[in-house]
Amino acid sequence: MTQLESFDKLVSLAKRRGFIFQSSEIYGGINACYDYGPLGVELKRNVKDIWWNAMTRDYDNIVGLDAAILMHPKVWEASGHIAGFTDPLVDCKKCKSRFREDTLPEENLTHRKCPKCEGALTEARNFNLMFKTEMGALEGAGTEVYLRPETAQGIFVNFLNVMDTSRQRIPFGIAQIGKAFRNEITPGNFTFRTREFEQMEMQYFVEPENSDEWFETWKQRRLEYYDRIGIKRENLRFEAHGPNELAHYAKAAFDIEFKFPIGWSELEGIHNRSDFDLKQHEAYSGKKMMAMDATTNKKFHPFIIETSAGCDRTVLAILSQAYEEQTLEDGSERTVMHFHPAVAPIKVAILPLMKKDGLKELAYEIYDDLKKILPAFFDEKGAIGRRYRRMDEAGTPFCVTIDHDTIEKGTVTIRDRDSMGQVTIPKEELKAWLLERIYV
Ligand code: ATP
Repeated sequence: MTQLESFDKLVSLAKRRGFIFQSSEIYGGINACYDYGPLGVELKRNVKDIWWNAMTRDYDNIVGLDAAILMHPKVWEASGHIAGFTDPLVDCKKCKSRFREDTLPEENLTHRKCPKCEGALTEARNFNLMFKTEMGALEGAGTEVYLRPETAQGIFVNFLNVMDTSRQRIPFGIAQIGKAFRNEITPGNFTFRTREFEQMEMQYFVEPENSDEWFETWKQRRLEYYDRIGIKRENLRFEAHGPNELAHYAKAAFDIEFKFPIGWSELEGIHNRSDFDLKQHEAYSGKKMMAMDATTNKKFHPFIIETSAGCDRTVLAILSQAYEEQTLEDGSERTVMHFHPAVAPIKVAILPLMKKDGLKELAYEIYDDLKKILPAFFDEKGAIGRRYRRMDEAGTPFCVTIDHDTIEKGTVTIRDRDSMGQVTIPKEELKAWLLERIYV
């Protein structure tokens, strides 16, 4: 269960500890854009690495791609984004607030009154969510291009290149992690809805007759990923899109939702996109976007099963689930981030109990050895209790204290972040002990 009632406390911890900052903060910030600080970038990288490794190593026939953000403008005509990637925008004539018409409560729609001030609302105008820019040296004379609003199209247009060069046969998949941009009308809820974000997408090309089966397989496989990064099953659920909610390209669609402090909300979309995309690109480019059936040697348009996850939303889910404020038996308080060790930004902290008697030097030696294989942190400053609290807030699963016993008996003491229990082991066993518990 998430311990948070809103994102407020998380926003403050994220800033205080260097997980996430408002972009361009010294200039007053820019709306709906965020920067990942030293701890945040490690957390996010772990989320991406585990996803990438699961896709390209655990399953057969999935290869990677890193396509450009700027693409030929025709891509967005073929994909339907120029005509259809719009939100219905309404403004309040009185207080000037802006809303997405499709998110307004029924009574506001019937009476066309602003939910904030009851002023009159304008008619809806369609607003395209793609960011436009110009390519070329001369202002006004260049070609209009777009920042990609999804990474998927980079995969579709490279379907033939990838299939031919990596000698794939259907079924196979292409995985990609990259930035996407959407000029969202109503961004907000911290990093839940931003204008620049990162997606982790995998498109799996299958025989049309097997697409329902693959769709089910991918739903299950995606849950296994969330297990690995420590997201609890009780905080996840599938939501099916009803027939009226299906996107123009989709034959079937499920969202994986997470129980955020703002309520159940989408983390990832799993779609059976049929042969829509390949046929569209075939029509617009004139290139045959087909694969060969291995037994009959006949060409066909594969169907595509898409799994499209938001990296920033996954990080936000991890942060939300991890956050806990505890009152301890002695009445003191601590804030602890219960990250799964595999995603924790710092895996282990090395803390000399005192600086004198060579403890600091010995601790540094142990740290120096560990940091070559794991993200480790060395902290010699302040009372040991305070150093533990700092590591609890950073979500470091293990703290290792170096004391006189380390010199006399060659042992180290490991403190567990969640239980605060301690175990003592020979220092030679430390590396193996940690590795066994961190990388599952
Ligand atoms: P929503 O309904 O929340 O706008 P969507 O259905 O448009 O999302 P998709 O186009 O399916 O989203 O994109 C796949 C994933 O990318 C989403 O599940 C989400 O995790 C992430 N994503 C989409 N838009 C944003 C955004 N503005 N900010 C952060 N992540 C986003």
